[in-house]
Amino acid sequence: MINIEKIRADFPILNEQVYGHKLVYLDNAATTQKPKPVVESIVNGYYHKNANVHRGVHWLSQEATEAHEAARETVRKFINAEKTSEIIFTRGTTESLNIVAATFGELLSEGDEIIVSQMEHHSNIVPWQLVCEKKGARLVMLPIDNNGEISLETLKELINEKTRLVSIAHASNTLATVNPVKEVISIAHENGIPVMIDGAQSVPHFKVDVQELDADFLAFSGHKIYGPTGIGVLYGKEKWLDKLPPYQAGGEMIDKVTFEKTTFNVLPYKFEAGTPDFIGSTSLAAALDYMTAIGMDNVEEHERELVEYATKKLNEIEGMRIYGNAKKRSGLVSFLVSDIHPYDMGTILDKLGIAVRTGHHCAQPTMDFFGIEGTVRASFGIYNTKEEIDILVNGIARAKKLFHK
Ligand code: PMP
Repeated sequence: MINIEKIRADFPILNEQVYGHKLVYLDNAATTQKPKPVVESIVNGYYHKNANVHRGVHWLSQEATEAHEAARETVRKFINAEKTSEIIFTRGTTESLNIVAATFGELLSEGDEIIVSQMEHHSNIVPWQLVCEKKGARLVMLPIDNNGEISLETLKELINEKTRLVSIAHASNTLATVNPVKEVISIAHENGIPVMIDGAQSVPHFKVDVQELDADFLAFSGHKIYGPTGIGVLYGKEKWLDKLPPYQAGGEMIDKVTFEKTTFNVLPYKFEAGTPDFIGSTSLAAALDYMTAIGMDNVEEHERELVEYATKKLNEIEGMRIYGNAKKRSGLVSFLVSDIHPYDMGTILDKLGIAVRTGHHCAQPTMDFFGIEGTVRASFGIYNTKEEIDILVNGIARAKKLFHK
């Protein structure tokens, strides 16, 4: 059980008024709000611990370095990686995916194949497309069915001697599907193929253990787990990170530079060129500590209750079509009502203070599969309540009336 009043009190933004209504924030899959300890960490970081990390002999630089490296340890523990050297700080999921696509891509040859699923976010499609084009490799799509699920049998059929990597979302940002990534990894590994997990929509919502999954790479974003924007994580198994060439080049990632030859720094610094966002990393750690204190099992249970309640209530609305009906689902609902355009629905809900997302959610191939332009998406977080879902349901009823549906 979570103490919802206590949690809500940590998020001052939830008291904002929108067009005279109390804000009902149901856009957590896009970004989450920030609790006081995270904002305080940013402020205190700049007020008391601001100095460039790693290179300074002076006290403040050492303080900043210690905080930054302690944050790496917090991340390691949070996803249960074996070593801190396997934790790379990035700008977010997109950058993490691009790092792997670009560097793993360098190992590809003509005719090689990369498998991604049909429900992926564009950031887990386009980087692979670019690298496949460059290398003459082929991007292979693992299809979804009408429930928004993949088939492990189809995956087995798609894997062949040319397959080099599988990259798949742990949880879909449009359909709420929680993919059986452990099974995907096990099938891929039986064939000697590494797997990249897009954890943008899983790490914030339930316990993710990279060793238990045996994931080779995992990406997630700080801003979707109540942390700051502009900071994220790439986890990679040491054996893979050691094999990959550097991504960006510059300071921090080198060992020794001469005009004849440069040697590279050890992991994880090999992949962290330039001054890292050390205020971001320490404040992400504050967010992860906040989540750990609540308990990820409690987070999962709370959001499951919300999504079950929302699904039941929404299904009572005439003309409701929910997209994504997987057996295992995360805390969001994508829907359309009658023939009301998602933008119209979103605009009316907004006027009632309800923040939902409308559109293709950066997953146009998923929309194409269902033959729609977009959906309305309500996505839940730790501070949401059943009362807020009631407000959403009433808002949808108001919109229906307005459009005579
Ligand atoms: N993958 C998924 C499944 C997502 O939901 C998102 C964000 N909507 C991303 C990747 C990209 O995350 P970011 O914009 O934080 O890099």
